[in-house]
Amino acid sequence: MGKDINKFIEYEAFGRYPKIYPKNAIKINWIDELSKIKNLDKYLPRGYGKSYGDSCLIEDGTLVDTTNLNHLISFDKESRIVEAEAGVQFSTLLDFLLPNKSFLPVTPGTKYISIAGAIANDVHGKNHFKKGTFGNHTLEFELLRTNGEILTCSPTQNTDLFNATIGGLGLTGVITKAKFKAIPVSNPYMYVENIKFKNLNEFFEVNEDSEQDFVYTVAWIDSTAKGKSIGRGIYNRGNHTNPNLHKVPENEGGLPILPFPFDYPFINNLSVKAFNLLWYNKQIKKKENVIAHYNPFFYPLDGVNDWNKSYGKNGFLQYQFVIPTEKGKVLLPKILNDISNSGLSSFLVVLKTFGDIKSPGMLSFPEPGITLAIDFRMDGEKTLKLLDHLDKYIVELGGRIYPAKDARMKAEHFKLFYPNWKEFLQFKDPNITSAFWERVMK
Ligand SMILES: Cc1cc2nc3c(=O)[nH]c(=O)nc-3n(C[C@H](O)[C@H](O)[C@H](O)COP(=O)(O)OP(=O)(O)OC[C@H]3O[C@@H](n4cnc5c(N)ncnc54)[C@H](O)[C@@H]3O)c2cc1C
Repeated sequence: MGKDINKFIEYEAFGRYPKIYPKNAIKINWIDELSKIKNLDKYLPRGYGKSYGDSCLIEDGTLVDTTNLNHLISFDKESRIVEAEAGVQFSTLLDFLLPNKSFLPVTPGTKYISIAGAIANDVHGKNHFKKGTFGNHTLEFELLRTNGEILTCSPTQNTDLFNATIGGLGLTGVITKAKFKAIPVSNPYMYVENIKFKNLNEFFEVNEDSEQDFVYTVAWIDSTAKGKSIGRGIYNRGNHTNPNLHKVPENEGGLPILPFPFDYPFINNLSVKAFNLLWYNKQIKKKENVIAHYNPFFYPLDGVNDWNKSYGKNGFLQYQFVIPTEKGKVLLPKILNDISNSGLSSFLVVLKTFGDIKSPGMLSFPEPGITLAIDFRMDGEKTLKLLDHLDKYIVELGGRIYPAKDARMKAEHFKLFYPNWKEFLQFKDPNITSAFWERVMK
């Protein structure tokens, strides 16, 4: 009997490519129910599926959905140490932390991810150069292995397994709960400056300057720009507000969530060009400053529900790489030029730099350098060929691609980018696998 794909449609990845569905899925409601995994010979723990590609997918196996493990366990007001079950969402944590004048130490561009997903992909945010990854703030977690062992892992207990699980793509066991340390803030508002830059040289100048006085930095760039304008865009830098310096609104303003109503290929060459032009020109002044709620600052894309449908049923791929800064500066214009000429890129192109805070994660993605994240609509061979072409630059520069966003990197490249993969194999749970892992281990 074939698989009932519709039954598992909710278990697509965020990019909706590739279309790989599990044989079965089980939802865990209580930590005790996790004993069910003893009977599974091929499975993968799963959060909210906000990974773009196949690292959260499994073929002919079982997805063990841990999103119902969604209870906060404890919070120590003095130390700001939070303990929460694996499936607790960052959005829930924020709702709880802000009234306690605290904030997440590191957050990606969506708040709809689980704490276990944040550990398994060792996620980074706009403050990598100051705070490292989520793994740098993870104090402890509990890991359940298929053989029934329940292990507490921390920098001092089961240290190797702790390091293998941070950025370990869910392959070392099921995380049941975790502890991390939050940071102090006064309120939900951010002091933000937006700076328009004309090209990549200007980006690097603004970036260097910003890293002195700002904790969060990121730039949006126009991927359709050509010639002297290559790499133009808008730089976004911010800090949590200081009540002695900044006047913040009394009523907490959020972000209205708009639905994306179509499952239709809304994104094409024309709409992308038009969007980029409008976005770049929406800011007239060279520099603007605003007091913004944390939602639009950290999570602008969460403001449109199901925006991933805008690429149509074939879905899309995100390509995120990091390359060493000095060599990267030389080749980046060429990379952007090839992307611009391909006509396949979209409006979601993000450029930032990673700092040198080392994560404990054995397979963690961030390294010091320049990181670029670009969405490409899935146009079959055309898209895959372009990405194969871009891989050559990443290999030449000694960079690497982010597994959380990937759906197609070659096995030989994964092994080159992540030389610790052999050491990692000792810690992998033998019954856990993913479509990503099977692909890169070939
Ligand atoms: C709009 C958007 C913006 C993003 N921005 C960023 C960004 O700025 N920086 C960044 O780093 N990432 C970013 N991401 C990627 C996202 O943060 C990661 O993919 C994250 O891991 C997703 O968490 P999840 O709960 O959805 O997990 P899933 O995608 O479901 O799973 C992710 C991994 O976690 C494992 N896992 C899940 N639950 C468990 C468990 N209980 N035990 C063990 N392993 C488990 C899975 O096996 C899988 O390997 C972004 C994603 C989106 C959609």
